[in-house]
Amino acid sequence: MLSQRLQRLPPYLFAEIDAMKRQKLTEGVNVIDFGVGDPDLPTPKHVVEAMRRAVEKEENQKYPSYEGMPSFRQAVAEFYKRRKGLKVDAEREIIALIGSKEGIAHLPLAYIDSGDFVLCPDPGYPVYSSSTILADGRPYFIPLKKENNFLPDLESVPDDVARRAKILFLNYPNNPTASVAEREFIREAVDFCRDKGIILAHDAAYSEITFDYHARSFLEFGHEGVIEFNSLSKTYNMTGWRIGFAVGDADVLSGLLEVKTHVDSGVFQAVQEAAIAALTGSDEVIDENNRVYRARRDTLLKGLEEAGLRAEKPKATFYVWCEVPENCTSMEFTKKLLNEAGILVTPGVGFGKYGEGFVRFALTRDVSIIEEAVERLKAVSW
Ligand SMILES: *Cc1c(COP(=O)(O)O)cnc(C)c1O
Repeated sequence: MLSQRLQRLPPYLFAEIDAMKRQKLTEGVNVIDFGVGDPDLPTPKHVVEAMRRAVEKEENQKYPSYEGMPSFRQAVAEFYKRRKGLKVDAEREIIALIGSKEGIAHLPLAYIDSGDFVLCPDPGYPVYSSSTILADGRPYFIPLKKENNFLPDLESVPDDVARRAKILFLNYPNNPTASVAEREFIREAVDFCRDKGIILAHDAAYSEITFDYHARSFLEFGHEGVIEFNSLSKTYNMTGWRIGFAVGDADVLSGLLEVKTHVDSGVFQAVQEAAIAALTGSDEVIDENNRVYRARRDTLLKGLEEAGLRAEKPKATFYVWCEVPENCTSMEFTKKLLNEAGILVTPGVGFGKYGEGFVRFALTRDVSIIEEAVERLKAVSW
């Protein structure tokens, strides 16, 4: 019998879609899959080379340290200085993670007691609420609405919830809405959390995937009570390598690190060495990635418009958050696109109830495939 804790987790909404996709494939349909948030582009060659060299070293065969190698944390500090203009203390204010998902999933175990609230954006990355439930906490969902540029209205959180809230998760540039946060909102969020004694945990997984836009670090407004999760996964096409980091308030990080010392034994040092090569290497790698995503974004947006669908042009991330036509749910629309066009998207409702009314396209397919998808879309009527 599964634990009640595990049974409290919401059902996996994508199971039905996965089954439908498999069915289409067995029918011989050439499915164009915009569902996956996993870069199709390869890890940069110099990073793979650094890994190859690091694997040979005997010292890398031992257990790594829990918090990450000093040289890795130094590389993260350099990255923050170069990309965000911020000074962080490599020794106290940075820890290595086995992918940022690992850190996000473990943070509630460090700070949540039974019944405490964690404020989670809806729609949002499901790990914020599922990790809360696994820690016996209660997620309180704050809607991200189009009329508010997909930023949460923090003042809408009831006082009795805010009083028992310990963590606020935010994520900008945002998955799945592709929206961004400007200075004013970040300041408001930081002030809100400091005022109420809430840890602000900012997930910055898409901080470098931007188009004529600079994504600020939430640490610009001081480190007290704020930590930022980041990862090499999206920035350097390294989802499979499992390496990320948390940066910010040393006291908050120490709780997370304490949980980690009980459940994992750090990141393989060879992977850390590869990550150093990425973080300290040329930013041209990031620029080139963004040129590719920009071209795909523009192709898809133009096509959606021609097909009579509405979507905002994103300033960041590799997602497009597309409005569902009237009189149709996001799940119905997803099924219609799969059945009538062989196109797979992610229904917004899979990210929370306020995701209803939208579907997410991931720009993880080549321009020529997007062009083919657009032709198929134009042949469907709604
Ligand atoms: C991809 C993603 C992550 C995490 O990725 P890791 O591979 O675990 O570093 C975190 N948050 C969001 C919103 C993501 O989309």
